[in-house]
Amino acid sequence: MTIHHHLNDATLMAYAAGSVSESLSFVIATHLSVCSTCRARVAEMESLGGAELESQSEMTMSSTALDNVMALLDDDFFVEESKISKPVANSNIPSPLRDYLPHDYEALEWKTMAPGVKYFTLDGVNAGKGTLRLLKIAPGVTIPEHTHEGTELTLVLKGSFSDEVGRFKAGDIADLDDDIHHQPIADTDEDCICLIVTEAPLKFKAMMPKLFQYFVGM
Ligand SMILES: [Zn+2]
Repeated sequence: MTIHHHLNDATLMAYAAGSVSESLSFVIATHLSVCSTCRARVAEMESLGGAELESQSEMTMSSTALDNVMALLDDDFFVEESKISKPVANSNIPSPLRDYLPHDYEALEWKTMAPGVKYFTLDGVNAGKGTLRLLKIAPGVTIPEHTHEGTELTLVLKGSFSDEVGRFKAGDIADLDDDIHHQPIADTDEDCICLIVTEAPLKFKAMMPKLFQYFVGM
């Protein structure tokens, strides 16, 4: 699998420090399970983080506090590492996602979101106020243009889509900042199946002028 789109360093750093939400962490771990490049970055950050903590500890941290922090880091790392290193026979579903799917993609109970767009909500991972779901987008269908209030990660599992940033194929992840507007279009050869996590509801761009009018009293 050749991966062209990776997680941002800021996202990987937050993940390595254990400061991302459960649902974000889940999608990040799923990308890591197929991406040796990002796995290596995380390992590098883990070891830099450890060295940094050790040097700080001599001046500012008690050894107990340091041990606690290190224990947390180790736990996170090894839990994810054990999840991601499991080879899965006869399945294209990356671990750890596979642990949460009752069936193969095609056999899931997809619900309709919009013409040409179906979704399957993942139960069992706490998504807080955001969402964690699979989307299945029919060939050539466009997802409405939207901006993001929080973080959104889109990991392609099957098929591909294109947006202003480029073409995203299986294994690629779109790691978007708050203020990027984007309009993904599923490529035309097959359904595009993605794992998408959002930290807060998306605000669709078409709503913005109305809201703006409301706030300025126009
Ligand atoms: Zn990557």
